[in-house]
Amino acid sequence: MRTGCADHTLAGESRTGAAPTDKRSTTMTSTPTDVHLREREGVLDIDWTDGHKSRFSLRYLRGWCPCAVCQGHLHGVTTFVDQPAPRLLGAEPVGTYAMRLQWSDGHRTGIYAFKYLRAIELAPPAEGPSNEQLLASDAQSS
Ligand SMILES: [Zn+2]
Repeated sequence: MRTGCADHTLAGESRTGAAPTDKRSTTMTSTPTDVHLREREGVLDIDWTDGHKSRFSLRYLRGWCPCAVCQGHLHGVTTFVDQPAPRLLGAEPVGTYAMRLQWSDGHRTGIYAFKYLRAIELAPPAEGPSNEQLLASDAQSS
């Protein structure tokens, strides 16, 4: 049983009291307008406010989970945590800057900042498989 990631701040978790609805902050960081899980393909599609469309391999997202449990305590070293066929159970917004992904292996501590998602779409955060590689291998195995 993993109970790490205490350093993550889950501000506003599942509490939607006075949700901020002003649109002032959209110029700095693009935010998702639509998140669509394609479970059979092992893919998560994200549409963004700037019109960009992302397609992520679930294995890629799970592997590069940014939380402290997955990334351990090695300063500056990001590692790929390979789960061969992760299933995504849910995604919920965290504040206005990130989303939390819940995985079938019980892991639900990964807070994926929108900036982080956009960055790792282009290139993996460290030495390891790329999104393109994993999308291709998932397509072959299904
Ligand atoms: Zn993690």
